[in-house]
Amino acid sequence: RTVYVNGQYLPEEEATVSIFDRGFLMADGVYEVTSVLGGKLIDFAGHAARLERSLKELDMEKPEAFDDLLEIHRELVARNGIEEGMVYLQVTRGNPGDRDFAFPDPATTKPTLVLFTQNKPGLADNPQAQKGIKVISIEDIRWGRRDIKTVQLLYPSMGKMMAKKAGCDDAWLVEDGFVTEGTSNNTYIVKDGKIITRNLSHDILHGITRAAVLRFAKEAQMVVEERPFTIEEAQGADEAFFTSASAFVMPVVEIDGNPVKEGKVGPVASRLREIYLDESRKAGV
Ligand code: PMP
Repeated sequence: RTVYVNGQYLPEEEATVSIFDRGFLMADGVYEVTSVLGGKLIDFAGHAARLERSLKELDMEKPEAFDDLLEIHRELVARNGIEEGMVYLQVTRGNPGDRDFAFPDPATTKPTLVLFTQNKPGLADNPQAQKGIKVISIEDIRWGRRDIKTVQLLYPSMGKMMAKKAGCDDAWLVEDGFVTEGTSNNTYIVKDGKIITRNLSHDILHGITRAAVLRFAKEAQMVVEERPFTIEEAQGADEAFFTSASAFVMPVVEIDGNPVKEGKVGPVASRLREIYLDESRKAGV
């Protein structure tokens, strides 16, 4: 696989980052994951805009190559022959040459930019989307700025492991009695034809897929209500699902061992997945 590090395309074995890089020592970095369908990037502009916002919120410099990111994404997709999969991008505050809590001077320490591709044939035809997936709920003990897409992913990883141990696929995070989001996705329920999803705030990541799906839902005359909901409400809903750049729209059929309705994939999630995939393929760059 060819990867990209700070201006260079290299075989993955030859790509290196310093042990003093603040991404490695302090999780001082942000990332984006853009999906690829039919060799085209899905919602690239949305991911680039969110990256810029994450950097700004953390007072991190834009990498020099910021304006070339689309070209770099395309080059990696082409070099690695990706038809379906993802492009992962990470920016960290770079390598100050030592370990110190204070941010280094941006005049001397440049951000580190890393990109690589993940080949995932069959991403769109994921059989899990036909079956639906099972989730558990766990307490959300992450920090208070989940709207910034940082590489601090230890608790979400632990959540995934707790889910696996319970024989499930993912965990929904709960704070003050309400679902915030999934470990790596935004969460939704459907009740009496209405789509309910948590409103945007510092409590959740502002999903690029969420924005697209809500736009498509409204265009299809579906009613959308943006507000928090509880696990009990989700268990009593007609449908549940989640969205992310890598899972698109994914139905959830069981929460904490209780089936959602009859425990089958519902029509709203199926339809939204279909619309999302169709529209995204058309708009890919
Ligand atoms: N919430 C969290 C915590 C996530 O990690 C992700 C995906 N990385 C999402 C939501 C979904 O965001 P997007 O649709 O932009 O992939």
